[in-house]
Amino acid sequence: MTNIVHRVAGWFFSGNSGMEDVGSIKVYKNTNHPTKAWSEISVKQTVNKVVPLSPDTPISVDKLRVVCISDTHTKIEAVPKIVPDGDILIHAGDFTNVGLANEVKKFNAFLGSLSHQVKIVIAGNHDLTFDDEMVNNRRDYLRRNFGVSEKGFEQLLETYNVQHVKELLTNCVYLEDAGIDVCGVHIYGSPWQPEFCDWGFNLPRGEKCLEKWNLIPSSTDILITHGPPIGHGDACFDKNRAGCVELLSTIQQRVKPKYHIFGHIHEGYGVTSDGHTTYINASTCTLRYRPDHAPVVFDYPVPEGHMKDELLKISPQRLIRSAFH
Ligand code: MN
Ligand code: MN
Repeated sequence: MTNIVHRVAGWFFSGNSGMEDVGSIKVYKNTNHPTKAWSEISVKQTVNKVVPLSPDTPISVDKLRVVCISDTHTKIEAVPKIVPDGDILIHAGDFTNVGLANEVKKFNAFLGSLSHQVKIVIAGNHDLTFDDEMVNNRRDYLRRNFGVSEKGFEQLLETYNVQHVKELLTNCVYLEDAGIDVCGVHIYGSPWQPEFCDWGFNLPRGEKCLEKWNLIPSSTDILITHGPPIGHGDACFDKNRAGCVELLSTIQQRVKPKYHIFGHIHEGYGVTSDGHTTYINASTCTLRYRPDHAPVVFDYPVPEGHMKDELLKISPQRLIRSAFH
């Protein structure tokens, strides 16, 4: 058994990497055709609709109240009013439109206005400047998305490397293929998704995506990715499926988290279950980019041997400073 210590924001959790059974997940034959793949796989799958917890439910001392949002795309003026109180806030990516510094700053200020003790954020395909490959090797593409001239772009980059952009997120823990231990609950975040109009954190379906999912420790309790797995919260407006087959396989056959939180397919908003894992598409914005979907709330029992008081010791500043050492 290989034990990998995952670098996290100030914490380390020693995840069983699952190396011994990682190889058991195989790329599905029709993985490049997710709609067809789902029509084949769904015969043996359970997808139950779940009514999420009411945000008015009193917060209990022995449960962590988790509040999930995603895909806010800078439309956050109205959102603080609708974000319920809780212990942990999770944002599953696409907090900007193209990853400009002013968009990131606006999002960070929004996070600062919320009272949750721990805020956890991952990037999505729209958060272009968080993708190292994009900034280092695909500058022309980035420049076109920013809508600036060559000269303007050079100036922009001078004060604007990737590391700098990530450091603008001072009011949260930013996870990129990394995990954090919160009161004994293992939370892991990954921004990757199958190719979608050639944006950030895109990978070809199949092997390349599976390589990223193989990094998820088997001890993960709450998994955050930007994109959905196949069959849960991934139905597009045109009835096609957009989810990743290998992500569902990894979740069901190896990691078996209690919760999987994602966004990306705005119209797939909602909560489902396969009988073990609860799948939450927390997209705040609708298909038309209006921030109309309510945050999704759930309670996670504090594991034995842990106290909710431990949350008080986790300050976002402390976490974020450690994250860049
Ligand atoms: Mn989005
Ligand atoms: Mn997206």
